[in-house]
Parts: sequence; C-alpha cells; structure tokens
Amino acid sequence: MVKKTTKAVYWTGVNEAPAQYPWLSQDLDCKVAIVGGGLTAVLCALRFARAGYDTVVLGAEPLGYGGTAASSGMMCLDGDECLTELVDKIGADRTMMAVKLFQEAIGNLEALCKESGDGCGFRRMDTLRYAQERKGADTIRREFSLRLHNGINSELLSAHTAAEQFTFPMETGVYSPGAGAQVDPYRLVHAAASLATQAGARIYENTGVSVVDHCEEGKVRLECTTGHTVRAEYAIVAAGLETDKQCGGLERTATAYTVVTEPVEDFSGWRGPCLIHTQDEPRVFLTVTPDNRILIGGLGSALVDEHGRLGGMLELSSAGQKKYEQLEKQLRDMFPAIRGITADYVYASRTGRTGDGLPVLGRLPEEERIAYALCCGENGLLYSEIASRLLLEQYEGKANQELGLFSPRREWRVKH
Ligand SMILES: Cc1cc2nc3c(=O)[nH]c(=O)nc-3n(C[C@H](O)[C@H](O)[C@H](O)COP(=O)(O)OP(=O)(O)OC[C@H]3O[C@@H](n4cnc5c(N)ncnc54)[C@H](O)[C@@H]3O)c2cc1C
Repeated sequence: MVKKTTKAVYWTGVNEAPAQYPWLSQDLDCKVAIVGGGLTAVLCALRFARAGYDTVVLGAEPLGYGGTAASSGMMCLDGDECLTELVDKIGADRTMMAVKLFQEAIGNLEALCKESGDGCGFRRMDTLRYAQERKGADTIRREFSLRLHNGINSELLSAHTAAEQFTFPMETGVYSPGAGAQVDPYRLVHAAASLATQAGARIYENTGVSVVDHCEEGKVRLECTTGHTVRAEYAIVAAGLETDKQCGGLERTATAYTVVTEPVEDFSGWRGPCLIHTQDEPRVFLTVTPDNRILIGGLGSALVDEHGRLGGMLELSSAGQKKYEQLEKQLRDMFPAIRGITADYVYASRTGRTGDGLPVLGRLPEEERIAYALCCGENGLLYSEIASRLLLEQYEGKANQELGLFSPRREWRVKH
C-alpha cells in the first residue's frame, strides 16, 4: 500500500529553482529564436550562443518544467526497446550510428555537468536489461551478441549467475558495465541555462509562443503570449510533445507512472546498483537517485491521461493509485533484502514515442528558416544533446549524414 506520498514531481520537489528568468516584456530582434524551456531548448541555446549567434529562448513555463522535470534522469544505450528491437526497425548500420551518438551524448553531458561546477548528480552507472520469462530471453541473447560484436562491454547473465547478483529471478540478462549514467535533469537544465546566459543567450520563462511564421525580409516572426513579438533569422521549435503539431512524427502518447521511495541505506540484491530495464511486458525501469532513493517507472496507459481522466472526460481517481501500488509491490518483490522501501513521491506524466523511438530533428523541405526538435521517449535527454549539435551543424550548412537518421520525413523502416 502506498502510504505517505506527494503528487509533486520528484526533481522539482527536492530542488529549489536555482535561478529565475524574466518573461518577455518588449519586442525583440535576434538571430536565432528557440521555442521551449526544457533541456532541448536550453542545450540548443548553449551551442548556438557559444558559436557566436545572438540567441533567445522563449519557454511557456518555468525553465525545466515539462518532460525534462518528469524524466527519470537515466541515460542508457537502450530505452523502452532494446537495440535488437531498433535493428529490426531501422537496420544494423543505422542502429550502430545511433549508438555512437548516444555514447557521445553521455560524454558531452558528463563534461557539461563538470564544467558547470554543480555536478548535477551525474554519475556513470552499469546497465541491466533482463527477461524473466522465456519469451523475451531470445531477444536478450541477441542483444548480448549485438553489443559484444559492436564493442559494448557486456556480460550475459544466466538464471544461475544472476541469482548471485540480484534477488529477483530472471531467465537471462545482459549486463553492460559503465554503459549508462544517471543525472538530476532539473539541475542539468539549470546548469546548462546558466552557461548559455554566460555565453550571451537571453532566456525568457513563462513566455508562450502562439504563432511561428515566415514573414517578409526572410525573417521568422514569433508572437508571444505576453503580447510581444520576436523577429529572428531562424527559429528552432523544441517545445516537447507540442512540437509534433508542427513537424509530426509522434506515433503514440501515453501516461507514464513514477514512484520514488524515501532514501534507502543499502542495496542488497541489486548489483551496482545499476540502471534496470525489463524486457517482459509491461516494461518498467529502475534507477537510484543521487540521494539514494529508488525510482521505478513505467506501466504506461494510453487510455487514461496524467490527471486520471479516461478520454479526457470521465474521472478515474483510482487509476493512478492502482499503478503506484503495482509499482511499489513490484519493487518490494524484486528487492526483499532492501529495508525501508517506502514510496515518497508518486506522479503521472505524459510521454510520447515516435515510430522507431528516435527523435525528429531538422527542417521540413518547405520551411527554410524553421527547424524542429521533437525529443521524447526514454532516451529523450540524450536526444536533446544530439539535437543541439546536429541542428547547429545544419544551421551552419555543414554536411551531416547523422542528421538524416532523424529526418522528419524518414521512411526507411525495414520490411519484414
Ligand atoms: C515520465 C518520463 C520519464 C522520462 N525518463 C527519461 C529518462 O530516464 N531518460 C531520458 O533520457 N529521457 C527521459 N524522458 C524524456 C525526457 O524527459 C524528454 O525527452 C526531454 O527532457 C526532452 O526535453 P524537451 O526540452 O525536448 O521537452 P520538455 O522538457 O517537455 O520541454 C518542452 C518545453 O516547451 C514548453 N512549450 C511547449 N509549448 C510551448 C510554446 N508554444 N511556447 C513556448 N514554450 C512551449 C513547455 O512548457 C516545456 O517547458 C522521460 C520523459 C517522461 C515523460
């Protein structure tokens, strides 16, 4: 039974806002305007400002609210689906190109956390993906082989070896030492914002953008909810799931549930402790926060929204409660040797997925001066970092094969 809990998102619950930014109270001209106030917008602002472009960020909410604060802060090579499942969708070459970008993104975020002086709770972690049932075991074995033959240090765990390292049963698992990392996403977005402003970017919070349009003289005009207008030579729309309304790409959205426990003192029966993804359905993921709490998330529901409403109408107050209880029970069942597992934060948030699980990045053929960054899914933080580099390269006209991987109009699903 979930006892003492708060519906506040964990990261904004434990952190005071490190800084506040003004809302837009005058008309502005700039070179690059970025719509959004999450990690993608802020990392883009950092890259563009450092490259010498006059950059403005316009975010509808306080900085970092939205998908970034709801994130679990896990950074892995796999997400909801494993690499083997990605290979089945887009082929091996593209998958390994994506993996290289994920590895670079983890390294770049690690460097940013160090540079900021905050650290942002960043730490390298091992990763485990496992199947408890026979059904997923073949996929896990293929995953091990794929990782091994592509230079990702990994061990294949059998039911027997796993029993020495974990208190929950598994048919098989793939364990990759040092392949992942954990960060506090709210501190990260603020650390990046601070560096971006030092590089000259101007950031406005609580400033929604209601219209983004090409206008005469080769400019983009952005109308803001504060009654003011920004004219820019180039715009990037990095507005989380809202970005889909303009560039498309979302295949489905769902409500994801998260439970964060009170801090625990030891992690008996949890090797590492490592980041964990289950291969069995319904898929869940587990991590440990910088202050030693266990975070478990998943059990997405496509029918019930994050406020517990069915089809946006009928209120099902028990829907979320059941999911939280299910997650807490799963945690207790997996780790009977860990003392004092008590849920402290529970919350539901909207999440989305593209067809292949990768982000949508770049321009539409018909729009020369507007780029999009739809970064969602369990690797969304890495996508934000990748977006910032690739969109800057596109803006500067550099040939870029990697950006093609995330093109809004990509159509290379492997035919089976
Ligand atoms: C439950 C959950 C768990 C997750 N876990 C992980 C994880 O463990 N690891 C990981 O890598 N990723 C994870 N993600 C994904 C990750 O959090 C996001 O993909 C990432 O933070 C994307 O950031 P963003 O800036 O693109 O979007 P967001 O953080 O959603 O920011 C978008 C911002 O745009 C603003 N906005 C929207 N419309 C407008 C407008 N018209 N004008 C101005 N501003 C606007 C919003 O207010 C918001 O602040 C998770 C997501 C969820 C929901």
